[in-house]
Order: sequence, then C-alpha cells, then structure tokens
Amino acid sequence: MKCPNCKKANASHAKFCHMCGAPFITAISNTTTLGTVSVSDYVITAKPNYNVGYASPAYEITNGTATVRKSGNTFFVTASTYCIIQINFEAIPPPPPPITITSVSNNTTLGTVIVSGNVITAIPNYRVGYASPAFEIIKGTAAVSKSGNTFIVTASINCTIQINFEVIITVISNKTTLGTVSVSGNVITAMPNYRVGYAKPAYEITDGTAKVWQSGNTFIVTASTGCTIQINFLKKRIPWYVVALVALCLIIVAFFVIKSLSSSDKPIKVADTENVIFDPQKLVGLYRAKIDGQYTTLSARIEKAISQDEYQIKIHRGIIINNMEKGITFSFTYCGGKNISSSDFTNGELDLDNLPHIKITFKKDNQLWILEDVLPL
Ligand SMILES: [Zn+2]
Repeated sequence: MKCPNCKKANASHAKFCHMCGAPFITAISNTTTLGTVSVSDYVITAKPNYNVGYASPAYEITNGTATVRKSGNTFFVTASTYCIIQINFEAIPPPPPPITITSVSNNTTLGTVIVSGNVITAIPNYRVGYASPAFEIIKGTAAVSKSGNTFIVTASINCTIQINFEVIITVISNKTTLGTVSVSGNVITAMPNYRVGYAKPAYEITDGTAKVWQSGNTFIVTASTGCTIQINFLKKRIPWYVVALVALCLIIVAFFVIKSLSSSDKPIKVADTENVIFDPQKLVGLYRAKIDGQYTTLSARIEKAISQDEYQIKIHRGIIINNMEKGITFSFTYCGGKNISSSDFTNGELDLDNLPHIKITFKKDNQLWILEDVLPL
C-alpha cells in the first residue's frame, strides 16, 4: 500500500506511513449489495448500484478523526488520524403510481370545474355561490382545502371531487319595521313582528326566476338562477266581527243621542188652544208662561196616557222659540191657585209628581179656556 503523502510503499494494513507518518484511511460500504467504495489517496469514490442513492447521513466516520466533503459520488477526506469512513447507501424507493384527480360539477348550468394536477378551479356562473358543503369526495379518499374558487386536493389514490354550486338567493323585507328575513341556502325564514301577518301576495320575485313554496314563516325557493325574493309583511287588521260590534255600539249610541236631542231640543208646534179642552194631546207644544214675574218659554208634552181621558204631562222650561203665536197668554197654576215659581223646577223640568192637581189656564181672543186636572196623578 502506497502512502498517500510520500507515495512510499507500506504494509498492507498499516494505519499510518512508516516513512512520513501520514494517516491512512479506509472506506467501507454500509451494504455492498447497494454499492461499493474505493479509496485513492484521501479520496473515496462511491459506486451506488442502479436505483440506489445515499441515506442520511451519506457517510459516517466510524473510527478516527477526519473531515469529509461530499461531491456527488466523491468524498474528499482530510484525516488527522487513521480513520474508517462508512458510506451509507440506500435504495431509491420506486416512484408512486400517478394519481388521477377528477372533479365534477353538481350542476353544470350553475358552474364548471377545471382540474390541473391536484388543483381544482371552480367557475361559478353569475349569481351562483357554493352550497353547504361546497365539495364532496364522491370517489376515493382525499383531503380537500377550499380557498375562494380554488380547491387543493391531497390524495394517495384516484379520487373524484364534486363541487356543489348553488344559486344565490337574496331575500328582502317589504318593511323591516314589520318583520325581518333571513336566508340559508334556498330556505327563507321570515320573522313577522307582533300583530303582523303576510300581505297578498306574501312574497314577490323582484329579480330572477324562481318558484317559492310557503309554509308558515318558511319559504322554500327553487331557482335555476340567482334571484331576489321580497317578503311582504302586513299589519294584521282588526277582525270584521270586532269592527261590526263597534259599529253596532256606535249606531246604538247615536240612536239614543239623536232620540234624546229630538225629545228635548226639537221645537214642538204651538198648541191649538181652541181644541185644547177637548183633546189633551193638543197641549203638546210650546208656551210662554209668566214665572216669577217674567215670561219664560215652556214646553209641554204628553209623557204617557193613563186612560182615554187621562194623560201625564211633563212641562219643561227653557226651550227657545221665535214664532210664539200672538194673542195667547197662559198661566200655569196649581190647583190651589198658587202661581208656579222657579223653585218648582228641577233641572229645568217641572216636577209634576209633587203637583197632583194642576190647572192650566189659556186665554185666547179674550176667551178663557180652563183645563183642570189633566194630570191624573
Ligand atoms: Zn509517507
């Protein structure tokens, strides 16, 4: 064996040169069936077999001290002592069989897909988005990550990924103060406020084409294009029977108001005094009477008939008339001859219950008419 330094011959198993003292090196293969090694001076040349490369680490100093620099199949050694360098070969694993990634669209009228290697690019049409889930592995096994319209597929076997497109359904409320709306996929949920229902129609397709099926507050939309659905809320009306009841009450109240007005305020014809004796009904009318020394308007009406000849008469005070018949003077007196006074009126009405025998005297054309005891109390 020649010394790598002084080139002098040495013993075959010498560890250093017996002439100059330079260290020898030895190279070994970790597995000779994978590759062989040869040494020339301080340079190791490795010969890996077919489909063989280097393990990690590619070499090991199993004995001694040295630094090694690898360059391809060549290892340059700087040894400070005798050393053994082991080259670590390793079979190169056969390349995995090619994986085919296929992608399909759930609905090609909504969007298409393009596959390049393990990257799927989805192209949704106008007003189309992604359903939930946005993709499905319909064949094989894979891991898919979505980012926008890009789907990265990690697979060790052939696989088919379906991209799920879905039309974008927009929902709006006709009046948000009456109710709010939300949409999830093709399902619209409407939330009417208290005492709010739905108008007719309950919904309108304001954009696009769609079919809508309503069930309570849920609206199922079937659309092949993006669309906008407006939900029409409407304040609930008062039920017709409540309206009718209120109207009926108003009519009844109005009836009694009109009746009371007509009975108290409506002027009554002035009595025909000529027939007053013979027909007590003719007493009904307006009179001017002297009460407390002043002429006052009175009205008399028959309250009820007791019998054919007996009538109960009420006399009111304070009805204004403009056309008192001239020439008639009246005096209302009690049976005892006392004149009627203001104190006999309560709330403008003569209290006949306490005046059992009233005598009414009429005077017309200097003829005196006396009606006595017409009030059968
Ligand atoms: Zn030497």
